[in-house]
Amino acid sequence: MLEADVRDLLQLAESVPAMLAVFDATSLRCVYTNTRYAQLGQQTPAQIVGRTLADILGPDVSAMVLPHAHRAIATNLPVNYTRTINDSTGLRHIEVSFVPVKESSRLYVLANDISKHRLAEQALEQSMSRLHKFMAASEEGIAFHIDGMITDVNQALLRMLGYANDEMVGHSTLEFVPESEHERVKLVIAAGDEIAYESSALHKTRGAIPVEFIVRDILWAGVKQRMVIVRDISERKATLERIRFLALNDSLSGLPNRAALDEHLRALINAKPLAGFAVLFLDVDQLKRINDSLGHAAGDSLLKETADRLARLCAAENALDQDAWLSRIGGDEFVLTLRNPEETTLESFVSRIEASFDAPFFLSGRKIKASASIGVAVFPEDGDDSNQLLKNADAAMYAAKASGRRTVRYFDQALARAADAMLEIEQDLASAIQTSQFELFYQPIMSSDGRELISAEALLRWNHPHRGLIMPNEFIHIAEESNLFLPIGQWVLEHALREVKEWKALGWEHARVAVNLSNNEVRADDFVTEIIASLSRAAVAGEHLELELTERMLMSQDHVIRDSLLRLQHEGIKLSIDDFGTGYSSLSRLSALPIDTLKIDQSFVAELPDSHTALAIVTALLQLCRGLSIDVVAEGVERADQRDCLQLLGCDAMQGFLFSRPMKASDFKRWLCELLSDDDLNQPRIVRHRRRT
Ligand code: C2E
Ligand code: MG
Ligand code: MG
Repeated sequence: MLEADVRDLLQLAESVPAMLAVFDATSLRCVYTNTRYAQLGQQTPAQIVGRTLADILGPDVSAMVLPHAHRAIATNLPVNYTRTINDSTGLRHIEVSFVPVKESSRLYVLANDISKHRLAEQALEQSMSRLHKFMAASEEGIAFHIDGMITDVNQALLRMLGYANDEMVGHSTLEFVPESEHERVKLVIAAGDEIAYESSALHKTRGAIPVEFIVRDILWAGVKQRMVIVRDISERKATLERIRFLALNDSLSGLPNRAALDEHLRALINAKPLAGFAVLFLDVDQLKRINDSLGHAAGDSLLKETADRLARLCAAENALDQDAWLSRIGGDEFVLTLRNPEETTLESFVSRIEASFDAPFFLSGRKIKASASIGVAVFPEDGDDSNQLLKNADAAMYAAKASGRRTVRYFDQALARAADAMLEIEQDLASAIQTSQFELFYQPIMSSDGRELISAEALLRWNHPHRGLIMPNEFIHIAEESNLFLPIGQWVLEHALREVKEWKALGWEHARVAVNLSNNEVRADDFVTEIIASLSRAAVAGEHLELELTERMLMSQDHVIRDSLLRLQHEGIKLSIDDFGTGYSSLSRLSALPIDTLKIDQSFVAELPDSHTALAIVTALLQLCRGLSIDVVAEGVERADQRDCLQLLGCDAMQGFLFSRPMKASDFKRWLCELLSDDDLNQPRIVRHRRRT
C-alpha cells in the first residue's frame, strides 16, 4: 500500500464515528488506534499504542474480552459481542467486532456505541410489555390488525365475543362484524384516522351485540398497526333504552305516554307518501267515581285492565294488517291512532273498542261495569298538526260524554264552534262576577203533600251579555277546571244568605236556603272557616243554611271531610247529599258522616212508577234512611204519578217542576208572600219547625 493511501486511511479512521484499533494477532499489542477507541478507556492513542490488549483493558475486562479475541484469531472468522461500560460518563453499550486478517497477522477491532439503539429498544420492549399488561388488564376488548388482518387480541375481547385466541388472530376483522356493517368497517380501515363509532360485533354464539369501536394507528412491534378498542355497550344501550322507555312510557300501564304520542303523531303527519289517519281520544267514564268511592288502587286496576284490553285489541288489529297504535296520556285518557282508515274500518274499530268494555271489571272484589267516551278526529280533514288533531279529538270526546257517556262522536264543524265557545266561556267567566252577570234562582223543596215549604235551593244562572241565559251544567265544570269557581261559590253563598234574611223578614221564620257546593270549594283548606265567616258577615244563624254536597266530595277524603262536616253541623248548618245514587258510595259508609238529608237523584225518580229497579232502589233507600234518621228528598218530581208513588213509599219531601220551577229571587219572594198570606188550608203552608222523626 502506498504511504499516501495509508495516510488517507488513517485520516479516514479518525473521522468515522466508529472506534477503530489494530492489534498484532500474535502478541495482541496495539499497532494503531484512532482517538475514539483510545477515549473508550479515557486515554490518548499515544498512551495505548504498543501496549497489549490485556494491559489496556485491565484484568477484569480482559477475562471477558480476551476469549472473543482468541476465538476470532483461532477461527479466522469475525466475532461480535456487546459489552457494557459503566464509568464516569455513564452507562454505555458498546458493540465490538474482532475481525482477524490472517495474511497480515492483524486483529482489527471495530467498536460502536449502540447505547441510543439499546435505549430505544429497551423503551420499545418496556412499552410492549406495558401494552401487553394493559391489554391483559383491560376490561375493554382490544385487537390489533394490519389492513384488516387481526394480529393480536386480548382476553377481554375473547371473552366478550366468545372466541379462542387462534379463532381470531390471523382472521379478517370482517368476520367479527355483521354483514350490514362491512361497508362501514372497510371505510374506517381505509380512512386511517382515529375514529370512534357505535356499531355491533358478532358473538360466536349469541349473534350481534352493540359495541363502540375506537380505532387508532399505533406503532406495535416496530410496525404501524391499527389498534381497535371494543367496548360492550349493551348495558349502556339498555340503560339508555330504559331511560327512553321511562321518558316515553306511562309507568302505570307501560303504554307510550304523551311525549311518545307527540313523536308518533309527528311521524304520521310527516310520513311520505302522505297518508290519512284517525286520532281516537278515549276517556274512561267511571274513573273519577271509582277513585273516589273504591279508592285509588281500584282506579289503577281499572286503568291497567283497560290498557290491557285496548293493547290486545290493537295487536289483533295489527295482525290483520291494520296500523293501530295505543298510548295513555294521563288520568283516564287514552289516545289511539289508526292509519289509512276507510270509513267502515274506522267504524268497526270504534265498535270493537266499545265492545272491549262489555265484560265487567273486577275491582276490589266488586264487579263493575265501565264504559268509555270516544272522540274521533281525522287527519288531514280535522287538523293538520298534532295539537289541533288532539284538541279536536278531545272536544269530540267531551261532546260524546256530554251526550250521555258510552258514546262516540266524530269531530265536525259544529263541534269546532262549540270548542271555541267553551274557550270563550272560560275567558268570559273571569269577568262575569265584576259585571254582575250571575243570578240566583230559587226552587222550593216541599213536603210530599205539597202543603209545607221545607227550604229553597239556590240555583245559579249566568246572564251572558251575548249568549243569553247559561245554565250551570254548561259552565260550572269549566269554572272548576280553570279554578275560577272559588270566587263564584263565594258570591253564591253571600247572595243566598242575603236572600234568606229577606225571607225571614217577610215572615218565614225558619227560612232555610240550600246552597250547592263545588268540588273546588270543598277541597279548599279553609272552606269551613270561610262558610262560618260568611254567616257571621251576613249576620245569619247557621240553621238558615243547608249545604248540598255530592257523594264524590264526601268519599274523597273521608276523615278530613268528617271533621269539617262536624264543625259545620256544630254551627247548626244542615248537610245534605245531592244526586244520591249516581256514585258508588255505600250508605253504610255515609252513615258514619253527620248527614241530615239525602236527595235521591232525579234519574231514579224519572223512572217511577214503572221501573222495578227504580222502585226497589228508592224503597230500599227510604227504609235505610228511616233507620239512620236521615231525611229524604226526591229530586226532579215532574208528574203526579211520580209524586203519588213516592208518597206511597213514604217519601218525606220533594222538589220538582210539579211543585214549582226554579224562580227568580223576586218571583220567589212574591210566591212566598202569597203563601204566607194564604190561610186556605188547601194551599201549601210554611213549615214552622221540622225535626227528624
Ligand atoms: P242539583 O243541585 O241537583 O239541582 C237540581 C237541578 O234539577 C236544577 O238544575 C233544577 O233546575 C233541576 N230540576 C229541578 N226540578 C226538576 C224537575 O222536575 N225536572 C227536571 N228535569 N229538572 C229539575 P239546574 O239549575 O240546571 O242545576 C244543575 C246543577 O248545577 C245542580 O244540580 C247543581 O249540581 C249545579 N248547581 C246549580 N247551582 C249551583 C251553585 O250555585 N253552585 C254549585 N256548585 N253548583 C250549582
Ligand atoms: Mg243541589
Ligand atoms: Mg241534585
